Amino acid sequence: MEEKVLIFGHKSPDTDSICSSIACEILDKKNGKQFTKAVRLGNINKETQYVLNYLGLEIPELIEKVEEGQMVVLLDHNEFNQSVNGIEKAKILSVVDHHRIANFETSEPLFYTCKPYGCTSTIIFEEIKQLGYEIGKTEAILMASAIISDTLLLKSPTTTEYDKKALEELAKIANIDINEYGLEMLKAGTDLDDFTEEQLINLDAKNLEKDGQKFVIAQVNTISIEDVLKRQEKLEDAINKEIENKGLSLFVFGITDILNSNTEIIALGSKSEVVEKAFGKKLENNRAFLEGVVSRKKQLLPAIDKNI
Ligand code: MG
Ligand code: MG
Ligand code: MG
Repeated sequence: MEEKVLIFGHKSPDTDSICSSIACEILDKKNGKQFTKAVRLGNINKETQYVLNYLGLEIPELIEKVEEGQMVVLLDHNEFNQSVNGIEKAKILSVVDHHRIANFETSEPLFYTCKPYGCTSTIIFEEIKQLGYEIGKTEAILMASAIISDTLLLKSPTTTEYDKKALEELAKIANIDINEYGLEMLKAGTDLDDFTEEQLINLDAKNLEKDGQKFVIAQVNTISIEDVLKRQEKLEDAINKEIENKGLSLFVFGITDILNSNTEIIALGSKSEVVEKAFGKKLENNRAFLEGVVSRKKQLLPAIDKNI
């Protein structure tokens, strides 16, 4: 039997990470490559669960680490500190990603596709079309969901013309009203009630590093910032614990209002003043309201990274 190639997105997996992986597995199988297996590196969120329920798909298997020499394909990330434990010794066959390239190194050549698009699935969609593979309804909805999630229904500043075009074509194949479906899907992801504060700060957290300094930018989507802020005290306790456990200089927790496209941040850590410089706003009660900010990749991360 052929050895399996594991395909997965980043830790704290989001809809792009999970849905792009499953779409690739399905498309590979349909096209005679039986050995790709979609797996995940953490719990799936409620938005992604909504998609899997909608399509009647199983949650991919959780893996904690990979053995030396395991063949892998990385989607939606490249930085080793966002990847599976043991990645340094894995055999990375390919990367398909739409993020900055950092903390990444291989000993052998590989396929590496990185485009500054809004979503990994947009890149995969273009590649599949080029290969002439047929896209079925299930894969279309998986990829459409990833695009809707990453671009907040094409409203995020990360959205490109390529994402718009891909989503339009995928919606046609899927034969669904993309705005209606997309809003339901995004709303499903804002139901945060039964998560503990520890879970909330890890739902969508990116571990980052610069000049030996470790920092985290986490984000949750909501339709009411106020609702999430009711838990500020407990959230801060959880964040402070994380800062201590991981030796972080900064933890930024972004609460993003997906209907009005704004973000309130809670910033803690010895370097919390970095966010004041980054956004030209004074922290009050450890918080700042950032109007028009929704994207970690294009708005939060570059500003913080420049100033840390
Ligand atoms: Mg992602
Ligand atoms: Mg993505
Ligand atoms: Mg995201």
